[in-house]
Amino acid sequence: MVAKRLDITLEKKIKRSYCKKCKSIYGADTKIRIKSHLVIVRCPHCGDVRRFPIS
Ligand SMILES: [Zn+2]
Repeated sequence: MVAKRLDITLEKKIKRSYCKKCKSIYGADTKIRIKSHLVIVRCPHCGDVRRFPIS
């Protein structure tokens, strides 16, 4: 399935990005959930939840 490969790519991309709220890099502890066409990311530092659309 193509979707699985896409998820892994997204995960790597997101973990390298940072939280706009507390300005920390998300890192390895970041919880990432994929729900239909959205990626839901919870910041391990401040708990802020962000949603990214899968393009
Ligand atoms: Zn944060």
